[in-house]
Amino acid sequence: MELTLHILGSSAATPTRERNLSSIAIRYRNKILLFDCGEDFQRRFAEAGLKFNKPLMIFISHFHGDHIIGLPGFLFRLSLNDRTAPIVMFGPRNLFLYLLLHRKILGLKANYPIKIYEIDHLTKELIEFEGLDSEEPKNKIKIQDNIIYDSKYYTIKYALVEHSVITYAYAFIEKPRFGKFEPEKAKALGIPESHLWKKLQEGEIIEYQGKKIDPIKEGIIGPKKPGRKITYSGDLIPGKSIIELGKDSDILVHEATFAKKLAETAQEKKHSTSIDAALDAKQMNAKQLILTHISSRYQDDASKLLEEAKEIFPNTILAEDLLKIELK
Ligand SMILES: [Zn+2]
Ligand SMILES: [Zn+2]
Repeated sequence: MELTLHILGSSAATPTRERNLSSIAIRYRNKILLFDCGEDFQRRFAEAGLKFNKPLMIFISHFHGDHIIGLPGFLFRLSLNDRTAPIVMFGPRNLFLYLLLHRKILGLKANYPIKIYEIDHLTKELIEFEGLDSEEPKNKIKIQDNIIYDSKYYTIKYALVEHSVITYAYAFIEKPRFGKFEPEKAKALGIPESHLWKKLQEGEIIEYQGKKIDPIKEGIIGPKKPGRKITYSGDLIPGKSIIELGKDSDILVHEATFAKKLAETAQEKKHSTSIDAALDAKQMNAKQLILTHISSRYQDDASKLLEEAKEIFPNTILAEDLLKIELK
């Protein structure tokens, strides 16, 4: 199943000629998962070829303008279209209030199903709001093992990280996948091409003409393979929680606002350097590191950041807007 990661914005604080503000997208199983919505990211969203009418999940790391200001604009755009696909949104407390203000002052409407979940790391609860009209939460849901979303194919986990405001990092964790489907073997057992094939492809034991058929035992599908994992750091100074969250990630998208030389500034402003990002990648045993949230002071040349990180973690690349990576 195709899984792609798109960098929609890779600049810190201010946009530059080449870089928009923070946003990344994951495309998987007819759904788009967005992590942060920097100002005007919708332009990159379109340029990346992502479709505006797909089911969406949006995860906001924290309430700093460079990560959230693009959200209302994007939602206004969606309300212009005849959107019917749902949106499910997660972020820190006050996410609903932020949208409510846009409804009250600017008339933001959602003519499609929308659910907003505010994460409360203190009580370990999700506070659920449905639609933009009712100001009362609908529900409170206990969070177990930091899992904020769980589906048949993947889970999303969050971790509280250290920054100047409450900030969450997120991990997309695919569940183990079944191996290759061998249609010839299904045919050889006399199973017609039908809804039964779909079940077999997903590892389900089916009953056909009174016989139980286990697709793995019969070799109709290969053995399970580990799922893929992408971790997004948000803004942070390194700490234990991000390493735990990102353990064994295929890709770690980590902020690297500053080069090594500005380590003190990074500490002061609660941001990471290229070295911090590389050390986190190494400690969590990630396979690949993408440096993002690059300070505009490096707009003419960010190669220093990459060189520094590579000395510690060789499989590092520098984020560029519209970079697309397909995870095998
Ligand atoms: Zn930021
Ligand atoms: Zn920030």
